[in-house]
Amino acid sequence: MYLMDIFCKIINKEIPAEIIYENNHVIAFNDINPVAPIHVLIVPKTHMEGLNNLPEEGDQQHILNAAAEIAKQLGVSDGYRLVINCGEKAGQTVFHLHAHLIAGRDLAWPPG
Ligand code: 5GP
Repeated sequence: MYLMDIFCKIINKEIPAEIIYENNHVIAFNDINPVAPIHVLIVPKTHMEGLNNLPEEGDQQHILNAAAEIAKQLGVSDGYRLVINCGEKAGQTVFHLHAHLIAGRDLAWPPG
């Protein structure tokens, strides 16, 4: 049996989130524990665990398109970072594919 993860519940509006962007393919909302002044999670509405479980064709393009659109909407097109943590060793804690859009402060490179 598949147990719904927290992001599926946000997609289904079963639990609240500060939704800032939504279309037929993705939903984006503020991270509950932001690491920067702007920290938005962009989540495909179709459940997939992470980058290792991508279908050949799917919502991946929509995630990238949404990121650029959200950055524009928030006025940070000139400087933002998109991060996908893949696997526990990389810090993935929610096993529903999502991209972090981070902006609003200087972003060091390489990341920690
Ligand atoms: P990961 O560590 O898997 O790359 O990212 C998961 C992110 O989801 C974390 O940054 C965490 O703060 C965020 N998060 C976890 N639970 C919730 C929630 O219920 N609501 C929101 N808005 N963010 C969440």
